[in-house]
Amino acid sequence: MENTAPTSASESKPYDLLIAGGGIAGILAAAKFAAAHPNSRILLVERETVLGGRLRQSSPQLPRPGYGLSGISDALYGEWQDALVAHGLVGETSVLPGSRQQTVGVLAGNRLAQQTIDLWFTPKGARILGGMAASKHWPEVEEIVRQGAVAAPVDDADEELDAGDDESAPTQASKAAKSHALGHYWKQTRKAPAAIVLEHFGSAFGIPDVWDAAPEALAQRASFHSGRLHCGDWSEVITSLMNQPSFQTAVSVSTGNRIVNADLQDGIWHVNAEKGQYQAAALIVAQPPWQATAWLKRTLWPPALLQVASKTKPVSVVVLSEKIISTEAANLLPDVTIVPSEKVQIVRDGTDAVYFQATIDFELSLQAPAVVKAVKALKRARKKLQQLHPGAVTETNFIALLPVAWAQSPLHGDRRWLVRLGQKNFNAANLAFCGDAYGPSYDGDANILKSLTSACETLKF
Ligand SMILES: Cc1cc2nc3c(=O)[nH]c(=O)nc-3n(C[C@H](O)[C@H](O)[C@H](O)COP(=O)(O)OP(=O)(O)OC[C@H]3O[C@@H](n4cnc5c(N)ncnc54)[C@H](O)[C@@H]3O)c2cc1C
Repeated sequence: MENTAPTSASESKPYDLLIAGGGIAGILAAAKFAAAHPNSRILLVERETVLGGRLRQSSPQLPRPGYGLSGISDALYGEWQDALVAHGLVGETSVLPGSRQQTVGVLAGNRLAQQTIDLWFTPKGARILGGMAASKHWPEVEEIVRQGAVAAPVDDADEELDAGDDESAPTQASKAAKSHALGHYWKQTRKAPAAIVLEHFGSAFGIPDVWDAAPEALAQRASFHSGRLHCGDWSEVITSLMNQPSFQTAVSVSTGNRIVNADLQDGIWHVNAEKGQYQAAALIVAQPPWQATAWLKRTLWPPALLQVASKTKPVSVVVLSEKIISTEAANLLPDVTIVPSEKVQIVRDGTDAVYFQATIDFELSLQAPAVVKAVKALKRARKKLQQLHPGAVTETNFIALLPVAWAQSPLHGDRRWLVRLGQKNFNAANLAFCGDAYGPSYDGDANILKSLTSACETLKF
């Protein structure tokens, strides 16, 4: 995916802006700046041969979309629409993936219960699903409670579900007391299993707000979450944007071109990449810190941002990708299935693939014990699914280990660091940071949008 790619050597005239990273954030930043400054010279540099980053789109090299990115928010979807319209694709926003996830299920014992995803995001739905799942797997649920309780305040209980006095509901007690209280709360009230399983869902599914959510908070967020799940293959959207004349005029795209280092001399960025050296008046780092710290030296980072990056770690996801062999069998699966006993979620994304995903603490190696354990859980989940629907999936296509997001897990003490990301603007007049990792929200999409806005406001060229 290469537009007017510069292939070699130093450019004599510096670019107005160099964007390092062609994930969602980098692409949208390029589209936004190109629309706002049509006469500018922008360079987007991506190390992979395809754009899309963690969306990992299909291409001749990657014939199928990968990893099971399950859905993006209405707001981020709106940003894509704006980008397409700004570049003349008015009326053609139909290239955007139209599908939305509709159904969610819980696989417990030998039963797969499913319902609409909108119902799931209500206390009532949570209670129904949670109850079904939990009644079969008390020990596992207890374990989830034990972990979830570390960060889950349960003192704002839901009125609708709050049947009678809840003597066990904690007040503003210590974490330990909360943990104990939630365990007790779970044993005492019929609403607890629902909340607990929903919390598991939130963590595993990347909608972590629900971790912090007592059922009352869930009710408040129901409409937000039910609208967020736009999914599909984003390749066509990206290609359409790349091919638009107004985009092509302003933005050069260089893929398969890893940046190796960068320096700032006399107010001009000098960026060395595998295919050439580039100069630019401004730089947007559109990749998470666990990638960007490899090439942007420490002295060039805003110290406070670097401090947060060094004190925190992203959460990893282990993905087992399977090919669907019987469409008939696979069509019996909900869009998302949770297997509480394995802490696994199964995602269908509208293609011929099924993704088994497990969230773990940050790991880099497929050989790490936590990853090996997660792969075993994924395979057990696959077996459970196959016992229920023989022929739904075939042998493993690939196994991947990916950092998902910075702010995702409530099980870490990282929150207090991440909160700092929302407290000040780290961008300078010639350096900005965009992406899901640059913001305090559990919701990566919100961080992408906020960091894009902030970059646009701060960078002047
Ligand atoms: C399995 C999985 C499931 C997910 N599910 C969801 C979901 O359902 N909903 C949701 O909203 N989010 C989900 N996410 C998170 C979502 O993928 C990210 O929030 C989003 O893609 C981040 O986009 P980004 O542009 O900030 O970063 P990235 O997509 O990581 O983009 C950074 C880019 O920089 C490039 N790069 C890195 N180093 C260099 C270098 N040295 N030189 C040049 N380029 C470089 C990378 O190749 C990459 O393309 C999921 C993620 C995973 C892994």
